[in-house]
Amino acid sequence: MKLLYILGHPVAHSLSPAMQNAALRALGLDYEYRIMPVSPEDLEKRINELKDLSVAGFNVTIPHKIAVLPLLDELDETASVVGAVNTVVNSGSHLRGYNTDSPASTRVLREAYGDLAGCRVVILGAGGAARAVASGLAPCAEWIIVLARDEAKAESLARDVMGRTGVEIRGGDIGGAGKILSSADILVNATPVGMSPHWGVSPIEADILHPGLLVFDLVYNPERTQLLRDAESAGARTIGGITMLVYQGTEAFRLWTGREAPEALMMRAARNALGGVVA
Ligand code: NAP
Repeated sequence: MKLLYILGHPVAHSLSPAMQNAALRALGLDYEYRIMPVSPEDLEKRINELKDLSVAGFNVTIPHKIAVLPLLDELDETASVVGAVNTVVNSGSHLRGYNTDSPASTRVLREAYGDLAGCRVVILGAGGAARAVASGLAPCAEWIIVLARDEAKAESLARDVMGRTGVEIRGGDIGGAGKILSSADILVNATPVGMSPHWGVSPIEADILHPGLLVFDLVYNPERTQLLRDAESAGARTIGGITMLVYQGTEAFRLWTGREAPEALMMRAARNALGGVVA
């Protein structure tokens, strides 16, 4: 049997085991996807252990997506551009890192928005997910503005992605969202604000949302966050985070197994597992 893992801290409530194991079973593949809680201090030791031949690969999640970079043997091009890894393939003890969050977020937005050429985007947050979304949109956006509670982090992300992609990206304070949003097409929440158990909280004031916006909340628990509820009330279109979760998972599945993932089944498994988490 081949083993797959998700490394994180905390990671117990991840939906990925339910989603990936359902897909592996459906295709009759002799793999098992397991949770591996790993603290930052133990990351290097665990990564070396995962070079074992029984391990096909692993996902990395909060807080290891950037820290894992120097521990890998090679990065694929998207992971290099994003500067973060969420999926690793082990081939004969050689670890190659990928970022499947970035194409997953672009795919979700393209399906909901249509042609993304010239889109104007505001991203809230300046962590790994914001970096993945900004890098994915950079080749087609007119401009991207990254807003974070720590303005210096937003500016640093903007400089970094702009340096790698050439698109106009600026950073700023999250408190300045009102003025900027009026000329934006897409708003992305890449902070954990609104995540269970803090259901009633939104990262921005409801009155700055407008009907011309597509609002994409990366938070998937709950499926309809306060930000999405506020956006619907303002007449904006909305997308929750679960579709991106499934899309990043289907791409990881293909990298590990070489097989196309059963996407609809993975979506059902993730939703069922989310029901269990919420209950
Ligand atoms: P991260 O690297 O820890 O970054 C989080 C960002 O949010 C940082 O800029 C952080 O600011 C900011 N933040 C945290 N708490 C905040 C608050 N109370 N108010 C304002 N800003 C706050 O995390 P990440 O990996 O980017 O993930 C961000 C969110 O996206 C999480 O909820 C995660 O579950 C979700 N996500 C979803 C998917 C999906 O497939 N749907 C994929 C990836 C991530 P500081 O740096 O100042 O702390």
